[in-house]
Amino acid sequence: MKVLVNAGPWLAVPPPGYGGIENVLATLVPALRERGVSVVLASVGASTLEVDELLCAYDDGQFTELQKPYNQVMGIAHAHLARVVDELRRRDDIDLVHDHVEVVGPAVLSALGGPPVLHTLHWDLRKHPAFYGAFPSSIAVSGVSESQLARAPDALRAAALGAVHLATPLAERDVRVEREDYLVVMGRVCGLKGQHVAARICQKLGLPLVLAGPVSGRDTPAELDVVAQNPYHPLHNHPDVRYHLDQVSPYLDGDLVRWIGSVGGQARDHLYASARAALFPIQWDEPGGTAVVEALALGVPPVGLRRGCLPEIIDHGRTGFLADTEEELAELVLRVDELDPEECRREARRRFSPSVMAERYLELYEEVARGTGTRPRA
Ligand code: UDP
Repeated sequence: MKVLVNAGPWLAVPPPGYGGIENVLATLVPALRERGVSVVLASVGASTLEVDELLCAYDDGQFTELQKPYNQVMGIAHAHLARVVDELRRRDDIDLVHDHVEVVGPAVLSALGGPPVLHTLHWDLRKHPAFYGAFPSSIAVSGVSESQLARAPDALRAAALGAVHLATPLAERDVRVEREDYLVVMGRVCGLKGQHVAARICQKLGLPLVLAGPVSGRDTPAELDVVAQNPYHPLHNHPDVRYHLDQVSPYLDGDLVRWIGSVGGQARDHLYASARAALFPIQWDEPGGTAVVEALALGVPPVGLRRGCLPEIIDHGRTGFLADTEEELAELVLRVDELDPEECRREARRRFSPSVMAERYLELYEEVARGTGTRPRA
């Protein structure tokens, strides 16, 4: 079977630092190839993941560009998709397309009449109501959690074949490092991820906290400084930049509460694995939660607010803690040492390993290829 995995033009696979979808694809593709699937990856030239073929319209990831005004960047996803469509028109050896590009993927590929396509939707499905609210049931989609699909508009739910939880290779790696005292929030710095809540709690309790992740595509404090110092910089008033400057920065004392920018690769794994617990004070219904699954795999108990996919991933009291309010979250943060890291690791191996995810996607590929909800092959 030859599958074209459409990762989109945003970040390399694997990503150099932050990158939810790209990390998931860096997990899925090797597991598919181990099972005899040939993978053509549509990504950017900077991708280093071992694949059978790499297609790209751009040399480098375009994620930072995405922060610019819409009329300057709306062509990026289309240029990438045009490259994919061109390829699908020219050849007939692709058995199936597994698409991961928001909105433009289903909009463009459903009109093509090429090989069957499965679209995995990684985001909050209440976005783009005009698109998802009138979604044709003939387009095959999968979600990344049950709670994400449950919140989708009826039309989209009717097109969904099911949810496949995200996975991480860390679940099969058994990373062991010495535990340190700090708590960590691993993720994009933005209002949805709620870093300010973690910072407020840790400052009040006197607990060390490390915030890791980019701010509107800026990977280091120095890069963010350039934006903050220049009121004419196009990102100066970007909501994530304002969030960091107005709501998170006041807690950053360079000692107890620190923002270290993005971390990637082994440095990310080491930083994450050394933490006493991972905090998820999310202010939205997190659809998939790669960072939650990674925390479990590293034996770092996740502690978060009971929203979105978190209750599906975390078993309260066994593999982490879930709170309904900030006050309750603060109380539970003090109890993280009651949780058993081995239990977290076991759960990740059982539910969030690359093999589990690949097997589930292979079932969906078969279903889609048999014709469930897709156009017949051209
Ligand atoms: N991440 C990373 N370095 C950072 C911050 C985040 O490698 O400094 C990774 C994190 O480990 C996870 C991904 O970026 O794999 C974030 O994915 P998640 O689904 O948690 O968040 P989202 O896709 O919503 O931003």
